Amino acid sequence: MGCETLSDLKQLREKAAQIRMDLLEMIYRAGGGHAGGSLSSVDILVALYYSVMKLDPKHPDRTDRDRFILSKGHSVEGYYAILSDLGFFPREERTSYRKFRSGLIGHPSNHLPSIDVNTGSLGHGLSIGAGMALAGKMDQKDYHVYVLMGDGEQAEGSVWEAAMAASHYQLDHLTGIIDRNGLQISGDTEQVMALESLKDKWTSFGWEVVEVSDGNNMEELLTAFRRIPSGGHRPHLVIANTIKGKGVSFMENQPQWHHKVPTENEMGQAKKELEAQIREVR
Ligand SMILES: [Mg+2]
Repeated sequence: MGCETLSDLKQLREKAAQIRMDLLEMIYRAGGGHAGGSLSSVDILVALYYSVMKLDPKHPDRTDRDRFILSKGHSVEGYYAILSDLGFFPREERTSYRKFRSGLIGHPSNHLPSIDVNTGSLGHGLSIGAGMALAGKMDQKDYHVYVLMGDGEQAEGSVWEAAMAASHYQLDHLTGIIDRNGLQISGDTEQVMALESLKDKWTSFGWEVVEVSDGNNMEELLTAFRRIPSGGHRPHLVIANTIKGKGVSFMENQPQWHHKVPTENEMGQAKKELEAQIREVR
């Protein structure tokens, strides 16, 4: 399971800290990007890509591979850092992020290997994921579809159309994940468009819901993902309670870091903090 089968928690935590460093480097170099939401979702992506999902970087189009959709497409930097780390495309391409003629544009592009869907316009990923899961069911395939959404994204009506359809078609090979960091571009999600109780809402739509109290904790994430049964006739939802900007003290829980570029000094400080985290894990 997973591309690299990093089963050791230490290895996975170290990988997450390294990916945080890589994604900030990309944003700093490019002069643009979405640090806050990328940092909050890194642990979810690392758990899925290095331990949970069935994927093969040498054969990214295998029909039996698990599928992943980054519906919160703006948080693309961690996604690119992971895909290049795993060898889906060369690591060197990271330096071209957001540059003219680069394949690494500011939101996921299906021109890149293993990226099935262009995202960024919020609220579309779950519908597409439901379609993939329905196709798998009709074709009697065993792959699982994972869709990572933002919590601000829950205000999009199309999310709930997909929720209803996935339940209607009993898509038990579909898992939605909400990066529940409590913030969106314009502030606190409960002030912009109150979401709670999210768990009750999704349960009432017929989904099997698991809440991860610390969605930046690798052990808790893996436990939640591994408990998801492949049967049961219900789609699954993981609400991962995360911290926006996780891993860098001055970015944590600060809405302005949704779309802000670190200065040279800030980048230096962030690196120091992340290097300390790597040393601590080792
Ligand atoms: Mg959010």
